[in-house]
Amino acid sequence: MPTFVYMTRCDGCGHCVDICPSDIMHIDKTYRRALNIEPNMCWECYSCVKACPQFAIDCRGYADFAPLGHSVRVRREEEKGMISWKIKFRDGREKDFVSPIRTTPWGSIPSPAELAAPSADMMKSQQLAHEPEALNVPVLPALRPDQLKQGLV
Ligand code: SF4
Ligand code: SF4
Repeated sequence: MPTFVYMTRCDGCGHCVDICPSDIMHIDKTYRRALNIEPNMCWECYSCVKACPQFAIDCRGYADFAPLGHSVRVRREEEKGMISWKIKFRDGREKDFVSPIRTTPWGSIPSPAELAAPSADMMKSQQLAHEPEALNVPVLPALRPDQLKQGLV
């Protein structure tokens, strides 16, 4: 299920409009509240849900972490620098976890067009272009071949 906006909570700040990779979050010109104009194009990526300071956007969770009948609540806690997640399963079990809010300054991430084109070697690599420098790590963690398929005879 794509996102939907609780209009009584939304204050029209536009953060969801700025962050949506699908450009489908818009501000209604009459009511000055956000809405998803193209629900079937929603990736359910949760970017807008995590960015909303008013907890005004709801979305179904992916089946891999919250199967049918669940509910997912996401709360942005700016003062703690955390996003809190609460998953409630249909049998009543609840799971809570938190993840840090990304601190990269808004608008500071260069677009792919601003980066150098990948070299021929990079095109053959399994890494994405500009990894690992884009992730600010010296080398990406990866399993060595001798660590794979352990326990198989
Ligand atoms: Fe856009 Fe992602 Fe929000 Fe869907 S979940 S409206 S794709 S930001
Ligand atoms: Fe409304 Fe939240 Fe979007 Fe701001 S981020 S416009 S409060 S839904």
